[in-house]
Amino acid sequence: MVKTYSVAVLKGDDIGPEVIEATIKVLEATLEKSNFKLNFLYGEAGYHCIAQYGTNLPKETLELIKKTSACLKGPMTTPEEPGAPVSVAVTLRKIFNLYANVRPCRSFPNVEALKPNLDFVIVRENTEGLYSGAESLLAPGVGVALRIITREASLKIANFAFKLASQRRKHLTYVHKSNILRITDGIFKDAVKEAQQKYPDVTVDDMYIDATTMQLIKKPEMFDVIVTTNLFGDILSDEGAQVTGGLGLAAGANIGETYGMFEPVHGSAPKYTGLHRVNPIATIMAGSMMLYYLGEKGASTKIEDAVISVLAEGKVRTVDIGGSASTDEMANAVAVRIKAA
Ligand code: NAD
Repeated sequence: MVKTYSVAVLKGDDIGPEVIEATIKVLEATLEKSNFKLNFLYGEAGYHCIAQYGTNLPKETLELIKKTSACLKGPMTTPEEPGAPVSVAVTLRKIFNLYANVRPCRSFPNVEALKPNLDFVIVRENTEGLYSGAESLLAPGVGVALRIITREASLKIANFAFKLASQRRKHLTYVHKSNILRITDGIFKDAVKEAQQKYPDVTVDDMYIDATTMQLIKKPEMFDVIVTTNLFGDILSDEGAQVTGGLGLAAGANIGETYGMFEPVHGSAPKYTGLHRVNPIATIMAGSMMLYYLGEKGASTKIEDAVISVLAEGKVRTVDIGGSASTDEMANAVAVRIKAA
């Protein structure tokens, strides 16, 4: 019997539907010569749902997600008003305990990057830190936000990052600000050191967040796997994306014990809505990471190879990487390459 995976698809807001539809086209091309199927279950989520449902994650969508093995999520606009629902990504990460946010940063052929041949991965703790959302007003004009760091979550992310480093170039940099945040980042540091005992073959660097933002520009080739807390990881991964070619190419995975959610690193880029000019590669690569997570490594590599081959040829390029191709033209070029493989 042909193996079938149910996948939740959330198109999201603004440019979300454009990049998700482009990715579905590529996934469908991949399925043509594969011995598995994907059953796409579409759910409504995002800012545009709030007026109708009073929430950005309707309960029907949550029920639908629970029936699937993975989720392909488009970018969504985050409501900012006090009392508004929190980001859908943050909610899903908490509900499914998607504790590891994995954001590969690599350079691609014919795409301007700070240096050639870059290949590092940012592993961000995804469930606590300043994303706990525990904020309050102490007095008018005086606010406080809780940065919750636990040994348990820090150990989990450290073990995840060491395992990944041991499968790559065996180098891990852990990033923190323990000279100022002595208690919280002290817990994070201790957890990394504890996890390190199991991976004696992995070389470890200890680095402050401010120094890391500088080294990412000065000497990005020094990094293999970077592990850090939630907000530092979020900021570093936009920098990592830009250093290696831009947000249009950067994909991310949110991994838990039993579920995975895959999305581009970028947001909903409202100013480009409906112009069909944004780069779908970030979301296409998220689709490739999803297939890898589902165990379909051959199909995942096929997508990656097709993206690299289209970029190397250089005929089809979206505006962000110096061309004039539309979102659809880029997706079609990748799909054609997959079918021809
Ligand atoms: P953004 O990532 O949406 O866009 C910043 C800029 O990056 C864009 O103006 C554009 O120049 C470039 N860019 C982004 N995606 C691109 C693509 N596919 N191709 C080419 N260029 C691309 O960041 P923002 O403007 O700060 O945020 C817009 C909204 O998205 C906000 O509401 C924010 O909260 C939300 N957001 C959501 C997610 C998510 O859903 N996971 C992530 C980040 C931001």
